[in-house]
Amino acid sequence: TPGIRPLVAGNWKMNGTSASLGELREIGHGFMRGLDADTEALLCVPATLLTRAAEILASTPVRLGGEDCHAKASGAHTGDISAEMLKDAGASHVIVGHSERRTDHGEDDATVRAKAEAAWRAGLVAIICVGETQAERESGATLSVLSRQIEGSVPASATAANMIVAYEPVWAIGTGLTPTVDDVAKAHAHIRARLAEKLGSEAGKVRVLYGGSVKPSNAVELLSVENVDGALVGGASLKAADFLGIAEAYQ
Ligand code: PEP
Repeated sequence: TPGIRPLVAGNWKMNGTSASLGELREIGHGFMRGLDADTEALLCVPATLLTRAAEILASTPVRLGGEDCHAKASGAHTGDISAEMLKDAGASHVIVGHSERRTDHGEDDATVRAKAEAAWRAGLVAIICVGETQAERESGATLSVLSRQIEGSVPASATAANMIVAYEPVWAIGTGLTPTVDDVAKAHAHIRARLAEKLGSEAGKVRVLYGGSVKPSNAVELLSVENVDGALVGGASLKAADFLGIAEAYQ
């Protein structure tokens, strides 16, 4: 999208221990060697790695994010992590409403919206994920699902500075399957139009990422689609060579 600097974001999910910090270091070096001229880079890592990752990436242009946050700032919520805690550990961003959270933890749009607001309260950028399941796609409901999720998950106070939207067709996540370029274009145009209804002209500046089986070999094709302003990368973000290979799509 004209005027939008693309973002290549990684999502490590429930992967990574101290043994993975070498990959992180390599990704940092890769972006320092010049990839950052064309794209911004972000890695969302397990909370257990944030502090060490922040030290490793401090001298690089790569930013850090959490993968989820609780809606509250603190309190009796055993095992949960607040946006304030992520910020304190070195994050600038947080993913909310990933389909794995929606499925595994029963998160609905209202929960996701509350988490986005929590991210802003803590000074984080919220990456709000939307996307249809295989069954929804087969029944022709893709665009109506996206409308419902944008309506329910995106707070009215969203801006291009505090929110990124990620379109992640659930059936394309971790499966090696990807939508056609035409399907991606339709979904992203639809998301942009729904955001415009909600946010007015601000919608033209909001980054809308594509996510779902992005890898170096399909990155150029997927990331050059109209209204695609970067990628959210799962599996391929775990290996520095793959993640850097995806970012090279913008060179
Ligand atoms: C994701 O879960 O955000 C994702 C896009 O995963 P993958 O790249 O592995 O499909």
